[in-house]
Amino acid sequence: MPYTPAPAPLPCPRCQGDTFRIPRNLLDRLISRFVLVHRYRCHSLRCGWEGRVRVSAPALRKASKSA
Ligand SMILES: [Zn+2]
Repeated sequence: MPYTPAPAPLPCPRCQGDTFRIPRNLLDRLISRFVLVHRYRCHSLRCGWEGRVRVSAPALRKASKSA
């Protein structure tokens, strides 16, 4: 599966800087069985924010079209 970097959907809630997607951990994967979530991290090392971002329902429907 080719990795396509998506544009950051949100500014960092701590410093309003750019964020980027990082691989999900085990807990995130478990949660994604019920609610699709992505994990993001702030570009700023000094900020260091990292968090789970819920993917909206329309995006989920589109992603599961072939299922
Ligand atoms: Zn930040």
